Amino acid sequence: MDFLRPTTWEEALAAKADRPDAVPIQGGTDVMVEINFGVRRPPALLDLTGVAELRDWSMTGGMCRLGAGVPYAVVVDRLGDVLPGLAQAARTVGSPQIRNRGSVGGNLGAASPAGDSHPPLLSAGAVVEVESRDRGVRMIPATEFYLGVKRSALEQDELIRAVHVPPATGPQYFSKVGTRNAMVIAVCSFAIALHPGERRVGTGLGSAAPTPRRALEAEELLAAELDWESPLDPALARRFGELCARAAAPIDDVRGAAAYRVHAIGVLARRTLAWAWTDHLGKRAA
Ligand SMILES: Cc1cc2nc3c(=O)[nH]c(=O)nc-3n(C[C@H](O)[C@H](O)[C@H](O)COP(=O)(O)OP(=O)(O)OC[C@H]3O[C@@H](n4cnc5c(N)ncnc54)[C@H](O)[C@@H]3O)c2cc1C
Repeated sequence: MDFLRPTTWEEALAAKADRPDAVPIQGGTDVMVEINFGVRRPPALLDLTGVAELRDWSMTGGMCRLGAGVPYAVVVDRLGDVLPGLAQAARTVGSPQIRNRGSVGGNLGAASPAGDSHPPLLSAGAVVEVESRDRGVRMIPATEFYLGVKRSALEQDELIRAVHVPPATGPQYFSKVGTRNAMVIAVCSFAIALHPGERRVGTGLGSAAPTPRRALEAEELLAAELDWESPLDPALARRFGELCARAAAPIDDVRGAAAYRVHAIGVLARRTLAWAWTDHLGKRAA
């Protein structure tokens, strides 16, 4: 197995263009597991840890630009105020060791329907920055990034450079059901982001369909019927939960039954909306 070790972004793009069969590796918390278990034996690994810029984040053009290699630990420690939904999700990933190495870019690269970054990225309206040497930069909205189980819009010669996430303008929550409290892949998960300026609520479902996805009908319901000045109508919250559950299309697997996942998504959606609404009204009263 060849081991390619670029030290600049340009070198990384050139290496990927010349060797499209090279598998990028950042934290290695997915790649090394697959290699160790014989799931794949790539002809080459493209080690991105020498490209320092991938571990940087910045506020750029009103967006938080998170380099693809920023580990979860940094999201938790530094970005809790700016990206609360993503930071909550990051807190639930693996263990401290996994959060020190694992990255949001790696979660996107793996594109697992159970990846914890995806629901908050969807609910916040994130955009994934990808690039190839020969075709340049593409900005892919998170809603268009996930194509199938562990399949994304990323082409063979492309690398993920960053993800751009709008800073929170309202309360955000992430909630995950697992078979224990830590070191657990989601049975299902849900993220909500209130966008009070736009009178809009964003959603993200995890581990509840072949890809992470939004509950569009549920979002439309709230856009049409939510009164942003008043306490939450319990009947509206119930209908929101039902529409979120209806957006799920899960499978039965070792972690949970499809029917349970549908039910749990409805509960998570209703609960997170109630939590976010309490924060929203509390902020207005303060
Ligand atoms: C013990 C354990 C617990 C875990 N718990 C969780 C959990 O709770 N929640 C969760 O979501 N995940 C969990 N994971 C999975 C894993 O940690 C995450 O998916 C993590 O985000 C992967 O990031 P990484 O940097 O380690 O990616 P890597 O393993 O380096 O790469 C992952 C994938 O992304 C690709 N890739 C990496 N960087 C790029 C790039 N810049 N451009 C293009 N492709 C790229 C790789 O080729 C590979 O396909 C766990 C893993 C382990 C081993």
